[in-house]
Amino acid sequence: MYHRLLLLCSFILLLASCVPAPIIAQAPAPVPSHGDYFARHQFSLADTLRGALRPERTGFDVHYYELHLEVSPAERYIEGHVNMDYRVVHPTQRLQIDLFKNLQIDSIKQAGRHLPYERIANAVFIDLPAQLLTGSRHRMTIWYGGKPIAAKNAPWDGGFVWSLDHKDRTWVGIACEGTGASLWWPNKDHLSDEPDSMLVSVTVPKRLFVASNGNLREEVELDNRYQKRYDWFVSYPINNYNISLGIGSYVHFDSTYVAFDGEVLELDYYVLDYNEDRARKQFRQVGPMLAAYEHYFGKYPFWQDGYALIETPFLGMEHQSAIAYGNRYMRGYLGGLIPDDMDWDYIIIHETGHEYFGNSISVADHAEMWIHESFTTYMETLYVEYRYGKKDALRYIGTQRPFIQNESPILGPSGVNFDDFGRCSRPHAR
Ligand SMILES: [Zn+2]
Repeated sequence: MYHRLLLLCSFILLLASCVPAPIIAQAPAPVPSHGDYFARHQFSLADTLRGALRPERTGFDVHYYELHLEVSPAERYIEGHVNMDYRVVHPTQRLQIDLFKNLQIDSIKQAGRHLPYERIANAVFIDLPAQLLTGSRHRMTIWYGGKPIAAKNAPWDGGFVWSLDHKDRTWVGIACEGTGASLWWPNKDHLSDEPDSMLVSVTVPKRLFVASNGNLREEVELDNRYQKRYDWFVSYPINNYNISLGIGSYVHFDSTYVAFDGEVLELDYYVLDYNEDRARKQFRQVGPMLAAYEHYFGKYPFWQDGYALIETPFLGMEHQSAIAYGNRYMRGYLGGLIPDDMDWDYIIIHETGHEYFGNSISVADHAEMWIHESFTTYMETLYVEYRYGKKDALRYIGTQRPFIQNESPILGPSGVNFDDFGRCSRPHAR
C-alpha cells in the first residue's frame, strides 16, 4: 500500500514541477502485491521515471545506437555523442530518454534541428516540432559529457571503476547493471527495449587498449598522435547495461571452440600483460564449459560476435560477448564457495551462463531478475553434472542451500527499476 502511495506522491511532484500533461495524465504502472514486504521500501521520483513505461517511452522502439566517446582517465572525464536510430510505434511528439543528471547535455538534434528538452531527475524529455507518424524512422543525436559516477563497490553498485594495475598504470572498468547504462551514456534505459545492434567507438590515450562488446572492427591512431580510437560492433540485440569497456594495458590472445556440428567459435581474451601466463592456464576451462552448455541448451547464443573474457578491476559481470573477469585466476568464488575437491572458476562458469539466461533470454523489468540469476545457478549445477556426475552436482547445489532463507519475495515490484533485493531483506534477517 505504502508503495502505491509513494508512486502517487511522485506523480503529484511531477505536477508541481510543471511537466506537460502527457506524463501526469498517465496512471502509474500496476504494481504486484507482495503483502507488506515492499512497504518498507521507499521509491523515488527517479525510480518511477526509470522503471515505468509511459507513452513517452512506448512511443518509440530503438533499433540501433552508435556511442562515440572520448575517455580521459587522468581527469575521470568522458564526452561524446550518441546516435539513436528508432522507429515510431504510436504517434508521439515527446520522447523520454535517460541520462544521469550529473552529466551535461550540450545539444540534442534530429533532422538538422536543435530540439528543446527538459530534465527531471535522471530522465530527459525531448519535444519534437511535430507529431511523428507511426512506422516512421528517425535518427536523434545527443551530445553530452562530464564526470560519470564512480562505483563504490562494483559490480553491486554501478559506475566507473577508475583503477590502477600492479604496475600503477591506468585500468578502467564499468559496471552498471541495475544502476543503469544512463549513468554513462544517453539511451532509452529500460530493459524492455534492446537495440538490434550497436557501434561502440571509444577514443583513449594511445598507450591504452579498449576492449568492448562484439567484434573489433577498427583500431585507428588519430592525427594528433597521442590518441587511439577503437571501434567495436555488436551484431545482436543487447541489454544496454551489457555494454561496457575495459581500458588498460591488455594483451590479447585467442583460441577456438568447435561445436558439436563442427562450427568454429572465436574465443578472445584480454588480460593485463603480466597475467598472460596465468590466464592461458585458467581459461583452458572455457572450451569444456561451452561443450557442457551446448549439450544442455544449444550453441553459445552470440556466435558471430564471438566469446570473450576481459580482465577487470572488479569481480565479474555478464557483459554480452565481453564478459568481465576479476576472479584473480582462483578456483571457485575468490577461492571459496565450491566444494574443496572441485576445481573450476565460478566467475567464468556463472557469467557465461548469463549469456543464455540474462543476455539471450532477458527480463523486461528488473523486478524479475530471479529469471537471470536462478536459471544461471541451475546452469552451474548442470556444468558440474556434465563434468563430475550427478552426485557431485547435488553436492555442489547443496553448498548454495544455506543462502535460501525465505526472507523476501523473489519477484520485486515492477515499474520502479527495482534491483535492491539484498538491502530490502536486511531488516528481516536480523
Ligand atoms: Zn549472476
